[in-house]
Amino acid sequence: FVLLIAVTAVTTALTDAELQFRGASVLDPLTGLLNRSGLAARFAEVREQARLLNRPVCLIMCDLDHFKRVNDNHGHERGDMVLREVSYEMRMSLRSFELFYRLGGEEFLVLLPGIALPDGIEIAQSLRAAVEASRPGGLPVTASFGVSVAVGEDIEFLALCRAADDAMYRAKAEGRNLVVAAEMSPAVADGAAKVADDTAAVAEHARTAADDAL
Ligand code: GH3
Ligand code: MG
Ligand code: MG
Repeated sequence: FVLLIAVTAVTTALTDAELQFRGASVLDPLTGLLNRSGLAARFAEVREQARLLNRPVCLIMCDLDHFKRVNDNHGHERGDMVLREVSYEMRMSLRSFELFYRLGGEEFLVLLPGIALPDGIEIAQSLRAAVEASRPGGLPVTASFGVSVAVGEDIEFLALCRAADDAMYRAKAEGRNLVVAAEMSPAVADGAAKVADDTAAVAEHARTAADDAL
């Protein structure tokens, strides 16, 4: 019986150690978010499931606006605080099946299994609003977002990343604190256009207040 307890204890200890090891390798220590190490493998699973069920996969790229200014004007410590708080706020505004990664620096990625473009844009819009409302580190921080989507054989990791990245850079160029959808076929774009218009109107209003406040 004592032996049984000993064996159980050793097994548990190994499992904990193993979990800690695996946890450390897939989690970002600063924010507690998933890091990019497990992303490609998880994407492959999401793609297989989406193809099987004939569902879309949506991807959001997010980059904090003028984050260098936070470090330059308030110090690296405050920058880290901003990253932690903004990560928490965005995580809290997502649902559990929406996978949220810190890619590195002040860049984030959301993987949305089964989500079509209009809903993806709405989710990005709610993230944008959550960042703006949160004032992480007591500062008026904003973020820019790019959204891409694919179905069936077109679901491809690098293509989705590139499309969302391009859209995100357009959001930067158009003034930041914005959500921009990737270029796509007219049929898909039609459904997305109205949501995007609403988003732009809200963001336009918000930007006037937030511009250059950092
Ligand atoms: P843009 O709106 O065009 O994205 O401007 P930006 O200033 O956000 O972009 P840029 O790429 O010039 O600056 C990113 C900054 O993020 C520079 C880098 O020092 C800072 N950074 C990256 N990782 C960390 C981190 O872990 N902690 C802190 N405090 N800063 C970080
Ligand atoms: Mg960046
Ligand atoms: Mg940035």
